[in-house]
Amino acid sequence: MRLSAATATAIRDHARAAYPDEACGLLIGPAGPRLVVDQAVVSANCAGRDRTRRFEIDMALYLRLQRDLRGTGRRILGIYHSHPDGPASPSARDVAGAWGDHHVWLIAALAAGAVTEITCWQPLGRGRGFAPVALEEMP
Ligand SMILES: [Zn+2]
Repeated sequence: MRLSAATATAIRDHARAAYPDEACGLLIGPAGPRLVVDQAVVSANCAGRDRTRRFEIDMALYLRLQRDLRGTGRRILGIYHSHPDGPASPSARDVAGAWGDHHVWLIAALAAGAVTEITCWQPLGRGRGFAPVALEEMP
Protein backbone atom coordinates (compact mmCIF):
# COMPACT_ATOMS: atom_id res chain seq x y z
CA MET A 1 0.00 0.00 0.00
CA ARG A 2 1.16 3.51 -0.75
CA LEU A 3 0.37 6.22 1.76
CA SER A 4 0.73 9.92 1.03
CA ALA A 5 2.97 11.81 3.45
CA ALA A 6 0.14 14.24 4.25
CA THR A 7 -2.15 11.35 5.15
CA ALA A 8 0.52 9.71 7.29
CA THR A 9 0.95 13.04 9.11
CA ALA A 10 -2.82 13.37 9.62
CA ILE A 11 -2.98 9.86 11.09
CA ARG A 12 0.00 10.53 13.39
CA ASP A 13 -1.56 13.80 14.55
CA HIS A 14 -4.91 12.10 15.24
CA ALA A 15 -3.24 9.22 17.10
CA ARG A 16 -1.30 11.69 19.27
CA ALA A 17 -4.38 13.82 19.97
CA ALA A 18 -6.49 10.82 20.98
CA TYR A 19 -3.79 9.34 23.25
CA PRO A 20 -4.20 7.54 25.64
CA ASP A 21 -7.38 6.46 23.83
CA GLU A 22 -7.24 4.56 20.56
CA ALA A 23 -7.81 6.77 17.51
CA CYS A 24 -9.63 5.39 14.49
CA GLY A 25 -10.70 6.46 11.03
CA LEU A 26 -11.11 5.58 7.39
CA LEU A 27 -8.61 5.43 4.55
CA ILE A 28 -9.69 6.82 1.18
CA GLY A 29 -8.12 6.75 -2.27
CA PRO A 30 -8.72 6.10 -5.94
CA ALA A 31 -10.72 3.00 -6.81
CA GLY A 32 -8.59 0.57 -8.76
CA PRO A 33 -6.25 -2.35 -8.40
CA ARG A 34 -3.46 -0.39 -6.68
CA LEU A 35 -3.82 0.66 -3.07
CA VAL A 36 -2.98 4.35 -2.86
CA VAL A 37 -4.28 6.10 0.23
CA ASP A 38 -4.29 9.88 -0.08
CA GLN A 39 -6.94 10.85 2.47
CA ALA A 40 -7.75 9.89 6.05
CA VAL A 41 -11.13 10.67 7.57
CA VAL A 42 -11.26 10.88 11.36
CA SER A 43 -13.92 8.79 13.08
CA ALA A 44 -15.04 9.09 16.65
CA ASN A 45 -14.01 6.06 18.68
CA CYS A 46 -17.46 4.63 19.32
CA ALA A 47 -16.35 1.88 21.69
CA GLY A 48 -18.64 2.18 24.70
CA ARG A 49 -15.85 1.61 27.20
CA ASP A 50 -12.14 0.82 27.44
CA ARG A 51 -11.25 3.21 24.64
CA THR A 52 -7.59 2.97 25.62
CA ARG A 53 -7.68 -0.64 24.40
CA ARG A 54 -10.63 -0.73 21.98
CA PHE A 55 -11.90 1.09 18.98
CA GLU A 56 -15.10 1.10 17.04
CA ILE A 57 -15.56 3.00 13.78
CA ASP A 58 -18.61 5.27 13.59
CA MET A 59 -20.74 3.17 11.22
CA ALA A 60 -22.99 6.12 10.34
CA LEU A 61 -19.89 7.96 9.11
CA TYR A 62 -18.76 4.85 7.24
CA LEU A 63 -22.07 4.48 5.41
CA ARG A 64 -22.29 8.20 4.65
CA LEU A 65 -18.77 8.22 3.17
CA GLN A 66 -19.49 5.11 1.14
CA ARG A 67 -22.59 6.79 -0.28
CA ASP A 68 -20.85 10.13 -0.92
CA LEU A 69 -17.95 8.45 -2.75
CA ARG A 70 -20.21 6.50 -5.10
CA GLY A 71 -19.53 7.54 -8.69
CA THR A 72 -16.49 9.69 -7.78
CA GLY A 73 -13.84 7.13 -8.73
CA ARG A 74 -12.72 7.04 -5.11
CA ARG A 75 -13.59 4.60 -2.37
CA ILE A 76 -12.93 3.51 1.19
CA LEU A 77 -9.76 1.42 0.99
CA GLY A 78 -9.36 0.60 4.64
CA ILE A 79 -9.45 1.68 8.22
CA TYR A 80 -6.82 2.87 10.64
CA HIS A 81 -6.52 2.76 14.39
CA SER A 82 -3.84 3.34 16.98
CA HIS A 83 -2.27 1.18 19.66
CA PRO A 84 -1.41 3.46 22.58
CA ASP A 85 1.63 1.92 24.27
CA GLY A 86 1.13 -1.26 22.24
CA PRO A 87 2.88 -3.00 19.34
CA ALA A 88 2.22 -2.11 15.69
CA SER A 89 0.59 -5.47 15.01
CA PRO A 90 -3.01 -6.68 15.31
CA SER A 91 -4.06 -7.47 18.87
CA ALA A 92 -5.97 -10.59 19.89
CA ARG A 93 -9.06 -8.38 19.98
CA ASP A 94 -8.34 -7.14 16.43
CA VAL A 95 -8.07 -10.76 15.23
CA ALA A 96 -11.29 -11.76 16.99
CA GLY A 97 -13.19 -8.79 15.60
CA ALA A 98 -11.61 -8.44 12.15
CA TRP A 99 -14.13 -7.32 9.58
CA GLY A 100 -14.03 -5.90 6.09
CA ASP A 101 -11.75 -8.38 4.39
CA HIS A 102 -11.89 -6.11 1.33
CA HIS A 103 -10.23 -3.38 3.43
CA VAL A 104 -6.70 -2.99 4.67
CA TRP A 105 -6.05 -2.14 8.29
CA LEU A 106 -3.42 0.40 9.20
CA ILE A 107 -2.09 0.40 12.76
CA ALA A 108 -0.18 3.27 14.35
CA ALA A 109 1.75 2.32 17.47
CA LEU A 110 2.52 4.94 20.09
CA ALA A 111 4.92 4.97 23.00
CA ALA A 112 4.47 7.67 25.65
CA GLY A 113 2.17 9.61 23.32
CA ALA A 114 4.44 9.62 20.25
CA VAL A 115 3.86 7.52 17.13
CA THR A 116 6.76 5.10 16.73
CA GLU A 117 5.59 2.93 13.85
CA ILE A 118 2.83 2.54 11.24
CA THR A 119 2.09 -0.86 9.71
CA CYS A 120 -0.48 -2.22 7.28
CA TRP A 121 -2.43 -5.50 7.36
CA GLN A 122 -4.90 -7.48 5.30
CA PRO A 123 -7.60 -9.19 7.37
CA LEU A 124 -8.13 -12.82 6.38
CA GLY A 125 -11.63 -13.05 7.85
CA ARG A 126 -13.07 -12.99 11.32
CA GLY A 127 -10.83 -14.93 13.71
CA ARG A 128 -8.39 -15.92 10.95
CA GLY A 129 -5.78 -13.27 11.54
CA PHE A 130 -4.01 -10.80 9.30
CA ALA A 131 -1.34 -10.90 6.63
CA PRO A 132 1.22 -8.07 6.60
CA VAL A 133 1.02 -5.64 3.67
CA ALA A 134 4.09 -3.71 2.51
CA LEU A 135 3.67 -0.01 3.25
CA GLU A 136 5.38 2.77 1.38
CA GLU A 137 5.11 6.43 2.27
CA MET A 138 5.12 8.67 -0.75
CA PRO A 139 5.52 12.42 -1.07
ZN1 LIG B 1 -5.92 -2.86 17.52
